[in-house]
Amino acid sequence: MRDDADRSAAMTVAPSTSPQRLLTWLRLGGTALLDLLFPPRCPGCGRVGDLFCQNCRTQVEWIPPAVCDRCGRPTAHAGLCDDCRGRSSSLDGIVAAVVFAGPLREAIHSLKYGNNRALAGALADYMTTAWRRHNHTVDCIVPVPLHVSRQAERGYNQAALLAQAIGPALGLPVNEKLVARHKATRQQALLSTAERRANVKDAFSCQGTATGLRIVLVDDVCTTGSTLESCATALRAAGAANIWALTLARARWLPGQPAPDAV
Ligand SMILES: [Zn+2]
Ligand SMILES: [Zn+2]
Repeated sequence: MRDDADRSAAMTVAPSTSPQRLLTWLRLGGTALLDLLFPPRCPGCGRVGDLFCQNCRTQVEWIPPAVCDRCGRPTAHAGLCDDCRGRSSSLDGIVAAVVFAGPLREAIHSLKYGNNRALAGALADYMTTAWRRHNHTVDCIVPVPLHVSRQAERGYNQAALLAQAIGPALGLPVNEKLVARHKATRQQALLSTAERRANVKDAFSCQGTATGLRIVLVDDVCTTGSTLESCATALRAAGAANIWALTLARARWLPGQPAPDAV
């Protein structure tokens, strides 16, 4: 069926059209046809025709502005929360945009496990808005990498898709090669806080030098922050000057409370 559409599109093109223009036409025609055959469906409510519908967007809960300078969780007082005080970290701080709940949780699930790559742009908008509320100066964006085996299985890295959308919006280059995940870790969502830390310990390595670089790590969800911390440790060892993290969502978890279990 797609071949028929491609053929009919080809027949409507004037003979003088350049091959490049013809390819563009075919590509656009193919995308339109795919949309017609498989229209987007909102991951929050199933509504047909919307990537992420307006009704579901109104249910997205922003992280309130008063947060801990380090872990980014809501706190009643300025500076560091009680959990972060007296604890060292390789991260300068974590900026999370919205709460990992409701339709947004479904949207992330669809981006991550449902091959719904088209959602990345809409979800990255929350991240650029959250990042602009802060005055952190950075040189580049580094998405948290997947292990090669997981990336091969999934076909893409959702953190890299988000980073590719954020980069142009913030005018920052994206470096997908700087950090590699050389240890095939278990899924963090299934583990306790202590297990999460052990699971990702020494999982990352910096490919080359990061001397003096001011970096923002990008990931989809942050729960305890163990993955970001491990990634930041590798970058810090390679000489990075500042390492911030920007995540789309953060599991609901207040300082002083036990860490949430599965997300
Ligand atoms: Zn919806
Ligand atoms: Zn904190």
